[in-house]
Amino acid sequence: MDLIAHLKTLCATPGMSGHEHQVRDVIAGVWRDLADEVHVDALGSLTAIRRGKGRKPRPRVMIAAHMDNIGLMVADVNGEFVRVSAIGGIDARVMPGQPVTVHGRRDLPGLVVAPADFLLPAAIRGSVVPVDELLIDLGLSAADVARQVRVGDVVSFAQGQTSLNGGLLASPALDNRASVAAVTMCLESLSGRAHEWDVLAVATTQEEVGLKGALTAAFAHAPQLAIAIDVTFGSGPAARDFTDRTYDLGKGPTIAFGPNLHPVVHKHLVDCAERGGFPYQTEPVAAHSGTDARAIQIAREGVPCALIGVPLRNMHTPVEVVHPQDVSTAGRLMADFIAGLGPDYLSRLARELD
Ligand SMILES: [Zn+2]
Repeated sequence: MDLIAHLKTLCATPGMSGHEHQVRDVIAGVWRDLADEVHVDALGSLTAIRRGKGRKPRPRVMIAAHMDNIGLMVADVNGEFVRVSAIGGIDARVMPGQPVTVHGRRDLPGLVVAPADFLLPAAIRGSVVPVDELLIDLGLSAADVARQVRVGDVVSFAQGQTSLNGGLLASPALDNRASVAAVTMCLESLSGRAHEWDVLAVATTQEEVGLKGALTAAFAHAPQLAIAIDVTFGSGPAARDFTDRTYDLGKGPTIAFGPNLHPVVHKHLVDCAERGGFPYQTEPVAAHSGTDARAIQIAREGVPCALIGVPLRNMHTPVEVVHPQDVSTAGRLMADFIAGLGPDYLSRLARELD
């Protein structure tokens, strides 16, 4: 698989939380060839099942990456301009000047604009304009805007994908299409080898607005084990003061530990990375994680969870940056771990916890 091309396609396809159908179709098109079956649930999450070679009833491992991304929604049509609300946690500081696509009757190019600073009352001059005070300029007359745009239409960021020096890739939506691509890598790597367990790869919906797709998918699949994969804070020039909370790009994915994650599964993933020679970083998560692992861990009677992170700079901005090598490593690490799961893994888990 051409990972960069796959990442670029995933990032170029809209999939705002609650509106994931376009990106889901793209993912399904790829995962269908790497799995025995794919299906879509009531909340729109996509599951690809690879049946294992073990004896029935086979245990199930779920790997979850959310496919939704943050964006904007039209809140009001105001003459020639459109007001918006945030879908998910938008970083308002970087919004003015951004190119967007308003998905109206047709896709319309637009620009996020704020009133010129010198027109503002002195008291708020120079401050960050909140998202719901920003406007979108479509370059159309008020009558055309009224014809083309409705309240509730979604708006995606339109910066496109940029290859930076050092092999880095910048794009909107790398949170969390980077992890979706890692799951594709994992499925591809598994398709060449025997694995005992059934593997359920899930592209979940609505993570950015409350972990919803992961919650219902974990209930439906009732996995015995789960790996969530999401992006984590990347280190870089803008994060120099936060070295205790950021991870280097290109030095491998993070393997998280903490109360949200199963300590023995964490240890086994680390062992797997060591054995396979995969670079990795260790990420402490002192309370709950802000990822699908939070919902999956407490589904049904509880699911032992692991969490893998892809370091990403500029989170929740339209210029998110990852190192594709970390994506590839994460995918191959998950595949190695899953291929090593035997029929007695769960009893081993209980034994080693004592
Ligand atoms: Zn995410």
